[in-house]
Parts: sequence; C-alpha cells; structure tokens
Amino acid sequence: MTSIGGPVVDFRALPKIELHAHLSGSISRQCLHDVWLKKKEVGETDLQDPLIEMPLGKHDYDLNTFFPLFSKYIYNLVNDAWSLTFTTLSVLRDFADDGVVYLELRTTPRAMPHAGLTKAQYVQTILDAIATFEAETPTPSLRTRLILSIDRRNTLPEAREVLALARQFQPHGVVGLDLCGDPARGGIEVFAPVFEEARRDVPDLGITLHFAEAAASGTEEELTMLLGWRPDRIGHVIHVSEAVRAAIIARGDMGLELCLSCNVHAGMICGGFESHHFGEWWQVKETVVVLSTDDVGIFGSPLSNEYALVAEHFGLVRADICALVRRGVDVIFGGDKEKQRLRGILWSE
Ligand SMILES: [Zn+2]
Repeated sequence: MTSIGGPVVDFRALPKIELHAHLSGSISRQCLHDVWLKKKEVGETDLQDPLIEMPLGKHDYDLNTFFPLFSKYIYNLVNDAWSLTFTTLSVLRDFADDGVVYLELRTTPRAMPHAGLTKAQYVQTILDAIATFEAETPTPSLRTRLILSIDRRNTLPEAREVLALARQFQPHGVVGLDLCGDPARGGIEVFAPVFEEARRDVPDLGITLHFAEAAASGTEEELTMLLGWRPDRIGHVIHVSEAVRAAIIARGDMGLELCLSCNVHAGMICGGFESHHFGEWWQVKETVVVLSTDDVGIFGSPLSNEYALVAEHFGLVRADICALVRRGVDVIFGGDKEKQRLRGILWSE
C-alpha cells in the first residue's frame, strides 16, 4: 500500500494484467521444493534441494547465471506431466492471489522424452492445467492464455515446429508467438521466414519479441530486423538508440512489456529503479507500457510490487496507476470479448 501523491492504493487488490511471464521462471521456490520432495521420496531425482540451489531471497541472477539455472536445473526437475501440471497450477494460483485478472503465460515447447511427452503433449498439458484451474474456481477472476516461444538457440525446423504448434492450439488458448532466450546468441535472422509466415498467414496470432535486452542484442541491425517482423509488442526495450526509439514511436500503439525488478536485479540496466527506462516511456502516448514480472520465481517481485515500485520511484498517483493498467488492455492478445470483460472489472480511478 502506498499513499504517495493521493489516496492509498492497495496494489494487490488492484486488478492487473500480466503479459510477459515465463512459465518456468514464474514457479515459486517453495513449489519447486515441493516437487523435489515428492520426487526425492520415490527416488526420481538426484538434484539438490531447490532451496539450496536457489536460496530464498537470492534474486541477483544475471544473464550469465540465469539461463543455466533453467537448462541445468529447473528443466531437469520439472520433467514430466505430473510436475508440469503441479507447477502450472501453482503459478496460476500465485498470479490470482496477487490480483492478476488476465495472464498471458509464455513457454518454449519442450519434449520430455524420458516421460514420453512430445512437444504437442507438453502444450496440451499446460492448457489442461489452465482449464482445470478455471473450472475449479466458481467465478474465476483470472483468465489465462498461452504464448509459445521460439528460443534463440532453436534451429529453423524447431522454430517452424513452434509456429505449427501455435496454429494447432490456437483454438484452445494459444494466442501468440514470442522470441526469447539468451540475448548473447546471434544468428536469429534465420527465424525471419517463420515470423513473416505467422504475420502473413495467421494474422490473429499475436507476435511479441524480446527486444534489446542486452547490448549484444541491441544492435541497430538486429532491432531494425525485429521491427520488420511487425511485432505487436516488444519486451524489455533497454538498449535502444534514438533512431530505434523514434521507429518504435512512429509505429504507433506498440506494446512495451517493461520488467523493472528483473532488469534491476539482473544488472541489465545501470543504476537502480529510479533510472529504469520506464521513466522515459510511460508517458509516451504513441506506445502502450505494460508492467510485467518476466520471472517472478527468480526475481521475487510479484506484479503488485512492480506497480508499487513505479508509484514510489516515478511518482505515479492512483489515477496514473489505474490508467496504466487500463491502457494495457489495448495490447492483449486475448481478443475483443476478453478486452470487454477486462474493461468491466479494471479500476477507473
Ligand atoms: Zn522474458
């Protein structure tokens, strides 16, 4: 709660929308610990306790330590249908408890060979968990949709497979396509035909791209190419030149998924919260800024806290906060009916 510049805002009660959250990175450490305990009991894991691997309170993962945490640890713990369902349900509960009313969760389809799960079954398992969650709540306040990610380390055939899965599961809750992964990895021009095909042949599939996360992925050449793929939204938007900034503004109504705690804790920006580029964007009328958590399981800051942070560091008052949430509805991928539902429940000051 804060009362800076106006009436007190209960940021947890404030109905919010979350558009940039990675499923595996949103799992709480307690939930990972519960999975580990269960697997340990039946002799299914040799991994170390997640609470030792990722101590509670440790949030300073940088780009060098962040990605191996998934490839070497989390993916080896969450490696079958049971743990995928269990962790997805836990993530949904956490977002709902934090006052999120609309969530676009993203994930890179991952086959789980030892559990006999194909990539399609991986996606289906998550969609089933979402359906279970919504069915279990009499009047679910949280609605969840799925975005499938192409990882920068994917091959072209793998990227094509992600698009094929997005098309296959579009009628069942997949609403978008993403480009994610280690920004140090180059060669992403290989994916151009996939995103071009998505834009051309599946116009109602949203496109969002991790954009200028690090200096290596913030070259004018890369960013111009990514804008050429005509994304609806871009994430992070850190290392942008004046020319790229002007190009983003000229596009009109581009969604900017900004993740303050992630960027500060991971040392992706210089300085603390007050120097985050949220300050340069939130009042730009030609763009739509959406506060997002990226990986709340890693960086430990729920969406309610991200709103508290911008109130504290950038002086947003209650009216600004409500307007910021409402504006985000314009760039969700969930369709007009969902936009209507949200406009009915979001606060208007
Ligand atoms: Zn991300």
